[in-house]
Amino acid sequence: MSSKRDYYEVLGVQKNALQDEIKSQYRKLALKFHPDRNKSPEAPEHFKEISEAYAVLSDPEKRKVYDTYGHAGVDGRYSAEDIFRGSRVNFEDVFGSSFESIFESIFGGGGFKFGGFDFGGFGRERGADLVYNSTITLEDVLKGKREEIELPREIDCDNCKGSGCAPGTSMRTCTVCNGHGQIRRSRSSGFSTFVTVQPCNTCRGQGKIIERPCSKCKGSGKQKATRNFSFEIPPGIESGEYRITGEGEAISSGINGDLIVRIDVKPHDKFKRDGSDIFYDANISMIDAALGKTLAVPTLDGTEKIIVEPGSQPNMIIKLKGKGLPHQGARGKGDEYVRLVVNVPEKLDKHQRKLLEELRYSFDR
Ligand SMILES: [Zn+2]
Ligand SMILES: [Zn+2]
Repeated sequence: MSSKRDYYEVLGVQKNALQDEIKSQYRKLALKFHPDRNKSPEAPEHFKEISEAYAVLSDPEKRKVYDTYGHAGVDGRYSAEDIFRGSRVNFEDVFGSSFESIFESIFGGGGFKFGGFDFGGFGRERGADLVYNSTITLEDVLKGKREEIELPREIDCDNCKGSGCAPGTSMRTCTVCNGHGQIRRSRSSGFSTFVTVQPCNTCRGQGKIIERPCSKCKGSGKQKATRNFSFEIPPGIESGEYRITGEGEAISSGINGDLIVRIDVKPHDKFKRDGSDIFYDANISMIDAALGKTLAVPTLDGTEKIIVEPGSQPNMIIKLKGKGLPHQGARGKGDEYVRLVVNVPEKLDKHQRKLLEELRYSFDR
């Protein structure tokens, strides 16, 4: 028998709880245990548990089955896919976003286990995500950058033409499932008959068995190859992980994984960055600060002349409008802020010293 906890207990509601109460209780728990927010190792399991309880109890028909027959009734009648997919409206109601993206974040898109079944993206298998690391400069952030990369992929093994069988041999039909790839079991309880369908373990759901595996691919039918892929890094980007949907590992029987691009913006030797603004320290002498000066300062794509007014003070900021980085997801650009760092001469020759002493005398007078 199942050691699963009671669904009402999982959600912390009474057996006669109304739908509104079930929904608000689930929302509360879901926010607490969502794996994106809660990093404890138990969070994903717990999140699945409350989600499953909600999927059943939010659906009047499934709730009735559960109330009457308990876990055995639900598990015998519905697959995990039936339970979750059938309740998708209820989930969208709680999260206010698409069902797919919710379950992508819960189950990582890579599949999950439920009641002894293995589901990869709800019955469809999903290829692995690929990760590409890209280190770019602030100049790249200004203009954007096109990346041309090589990604690994699998193609049919050239020795066995993808069959996985040693050349000259072929597959035989699985005798356990008679080639169906599935095993059906039916069980009667009262007036109802519950039918469960499980993948055949002997042939792993293929219905066929390789008798002599190909020596090159060991029976997988695949070999490694590469493909070229290019993409734009948009101007204004920040360091972080970005996902390109469907460009990960491709598998013939399911959906593609994603390509995850990890962008690392290298520190610049001249500029500091904050969002779309950049910061530059301009060194000037105390004489220039006092007398004023026209100064050429670097920008990300050249130089710009600035006027240091006579009597400028240390750490004064001069703003170069629009000389920063493009705003992300908006028009226009940030600014460059030039800070005046005023240097006092460390060494003076005799003549300079005399001049400065005269200057001091003129102030003291
Ligand atoms: Zn092969
Ligand atoms: Zn079989």
